[in-house]
Amino acid sequence: MDTETLEALKIAVRGPVIGPEDSGYDAARKVYNGMLDKRPAAVVPCRDVVDVRDVIAFARDKGVDLAVRGGGHSAPGLGIVDGGVTADLASMRWVRVDPEARTAQVGGGSTLGDLDHATQGFGLAVPTGINSTTGLGGLTLGGGHGYLTRKYGLTVDSLVAADVVLADGSFVTASESEHEDLFWALRGGSGNFGVVTSFTYRLHPVGTVGVGTTVWPVDRTPEVLAWYREFMPQADEDVYGFFAVLAVPPGPPFPEELHGRKMCGVVWCHTGDPGRTEAVIGDALAGAREAGEPAFHFTTPMPYVELQSMFDELLPPGLQWYWRGDFFDRVPDEALEIHRRYGEELPSGLSTMHLYPVDRAAHRVANDATAWSYRDAVWSGVYAAIDPDPANAAALKEWCVGYMEALHPYSMGGSYVNFLGEGEGEERVRATYRENYDRLARVKQKYDPDNVFHTNQNVRPASAASKA
Ligand code: FAD
Repeated sequence: MDTETLEALKIAVRGPVIGPEDSGYDAARKVYNGMLDKRPAAVVPCRDVVDVRDVIAFARDKGVDLAVRGGGHSAPGLGIVDGGVTADLASMRWVRVDPEARTAQVGGGSTLGDLDHATQGFGLAVPTGINSTTGLGGLTLGGGHGYLTRKYGLTVDSLVAADVVLADGSFVTASESEHEDLFWALRGGSGNFGVVTSFTYRLHPVGTVGVGTTVWPVDRTPEVLAWYREFMPQADEDVYGFFAVLAVPPGPPFPEELHGRKMCGVVWCHTGDPGRTEAVIGDALAGAREAGEPAFHFTTPMPYVELQSMFDELLPPGLQWYWRGDFFDRVPDEALEIHRRYGEELPSGLSTMHLYPVDRAAHRVANDATAWSYRDAVWSGVYAAIDPDPANAAALKEWCVGYMEALHPYSMGGSYVNFLGEGEGEERVRATYRENYDRLARVKQKYDPDNVFHTNQNVRPASAASKA
């Protein structure tokens, strides 16, 4: 962006406008993934709807690339664009809970932690993801899954309404009764359709939950995973356990002799009576013990809000991240050895693979009821290569891509949009949306025909898509 255009931006918006010459520039362009070093022409903190509208108008009218930053957690750094302008929603963090109606209205730049803090004060919650520092904006628009998904569905299944600034500057509310097509697309279609300045969610009763971890040495992966693939889908919906290959974190509750050792295992969240968690999970493990005694097992009651931030300290901003994902409806025998091999070859202490359950309540919604098109998936898998040291970047990429490619033939063909990595391309976005893609492209054509919102996992407007 030349100086003249930057000056025009300063006039067009309330400000501040943070450009390369400003002292806050490096802080403003930082995203969660330390592997990225994008250099936007300007970052504009937005405090309200009009700020957002002004940035959109400027980018649209000047033909400047626009990015929208929620929590900044996207692995490919989609909240920032090289040489373009970012509408930064970090100042739009607020939550208004209506405990009577059991709803919460939330500012578009809020984090999961903001929402959990405010709702848990009333013994309520929205199903979201598993790290409190993640942005609700990107997570919700992609679909959102976490510990409460088997019980209460995806994040979008609790979305009641969204206030949106559209590409043409108009400000609308999307819900089941207004702009229904937009509301459909926002529930999984990612940041393609406008800037959501507030989300309204339905709340569910959640208080203290039973939390636990059970791990086995990584060479037991085939046997443990063979048990888990049978156990999890038929378990009661109060039992949620994601399967992982991981290195044991260096701290409590894990005994010191296990720190750093490569393991496979399950992280549990039990939404039934927390006094019964050990009995429920203990029973479940009877079958698993045939695969070998766990190296470590514990369960404990924990307020849900605490569970939500359990991994925050382990994963501070600024680490190197490289990830890929795919959906699975089964774990065939051929996959068991692949998981063991890549578990044994973890490239760093923080790298991990998770299979997140997305069944039960999430399956009670039809595949075409929202843009999220994998209601028949049982797991959303992610291969996350993570390390503080930039010198390990190449090793992280190699492990992550190798693991994904080895298992892809046994996947359902597409990934959760929020687990798509850097530069995976249009075919992968199409595979994310399957039969919902064409409808998304039509909604895009209606609400953003010039593709103003393209710094995302892009769905092109129908007319552009049909020309390709
Ligand atoms: P950003 O990088 O700010 O934005 C990502 C995309 O969303 C961009 O295209 C942006 O333009 C768009 N966007 C963000 N806010 C808005 C808005 N208000 N209006 C319009 N567009 C917007 N996902 C899960 O479902 N479950 C998990 O358990 C989970 N765990 C995670 C843990 C970690 C440590 C990390 C890094 C990610 C995790 N994710 C999880 C993935 C997460 O959902 C995505 O990274 C998501 O993009 C984060 O949203 P954000 O707002 O922080 O990201």
